[in-house]
Amino acid sequence: MDTKLQLNSLSYHELENFVTNELQLSKYRAGQLWNWIWAKNCLDFEEMSDVSKETHRLLREKAYLFRPTIEKVSKSKDGTTKFLLKLEDGELIETVLIPSISKDGKVRITQCLSTQVGCAMACSFCSTGKLGFKRNMSMGEILGQVQAARAFLEDYHPEHPIIRNLVFMGMGEPLLNFENLMKSLETLHHKKGLAFSTRRITVSTCGIQKGLKELGESNLAYLAVSLHAPTQEKRAMLMPKAAAWHLEDLLSALESYTLHTRERMTLEYLVLGGVNDTPQDAKELIKICSRLKAKLNLIPYNDTPGSPYKAPSFENLLRFEKALWAKNVTAIIRKSKGQDIEAACGQLRAEYELSKQTL
Ligand code: SAH
Repeated sequence: MDTKLQLNSLSYHELENFVTNELQLSKYRAGQLWNWIWAKNCLDFEEMSDVSKETHRLLREKAYLFRPTIEKVSKSKDGTTKFLLKLEDGELIETVLIPSISKDGKVRITQCLSTQVGCAMACSFCSTGKLGFKRNMSMGEILGQVQAARAFLEDYHPEHPIIRNLVFMGMGEPLLNFENLMKSLETLHHKKGLAFSTRRITVSTCGIQKGLKELGESNLAYLAVSLHAPTQEKRAMLMPKAAAWHLEDLLSALESYTLHTRERMTLEYLVLGGVNDTPQDAKELIKICSRLKAKLNLIPYNDTPGSPYKAPSFENLLRFEKALWAKNVTAIIRKSKGQDIEAACGQLRAEYELSKQTL
């Protein structure tokens, strides 16, 4: 059995302990190592040029660095790139890179991260939900998605577009892997490492009571909530497990959620044709939005093979949006990116497994 320690899953403090106790080196060395791992995206101890040969040897003997391997890359016509990544135990997870052009004309990337292999929430419209829950991802695996994407971009794009924003909207429910989520957020913020600021990170949750308040108080990320339905009844139909926490209780928790100056939370509303896009739905949704400091993202459903749901007609979507605007709700239609590569949550892995079965 491999008893070496995987350094990518250690917090700064844990790395410091390892360096001082196990390697008998000074704390300063932990800072160097951290910088190599997180800022320089290093995967090989030998490349750490300011570290002595003897330390390289010690590191090799007691530890290793990990990065998920890329199993499959799918690129959409709109530039969205989806990766199927393999973890150490062979499990597959997904991450997506979504490019956009910033005001200064440079390409900026938003990366969508997974936090669990599969998901226990079983939302009826979601492909990940169909996989069921396998296990939580460690911090090394969660942030390994960023490291794998950075290495890929450096290899294939000479101009190095940078990963500007991170959204925890991939496979899994982040708040059900709370400890590793918080550890990942802290590592992302660390000045000697990736140095992401709060406003560049968004954590999306279907609304889990445990951990929600703490996430707000940590001020480590912005919050997005997958609402998807404006009443408890409809929500229970679409998201049976999430709805175990009653919509009214979720809304009260959101009313008292810690927000900083000028910060607003995001409500995500997957628009399912004929299911949650009626004038009555708009009315209920307006009531909810008037209670919260929130902006609303309307996400037209990405058609998934075998799903009972369908995308809304463009006409209906616009009518729905207009009804909201008429009551001063900031609703923005988010064009689904990467539709031709099935970039919505869990779709790539689902499709990949299907293709393996039919081989
Ligand atoms: N569990 C968390 C994180 C997953 S994010 C949460 O529920 O927020 C999942 C997001 O993917 C959902 O908010 C939804 O907007 C999006 N999604 C899932 N299936 C989709 C589909 N078929 N089409 C478009 N978006 C989808």
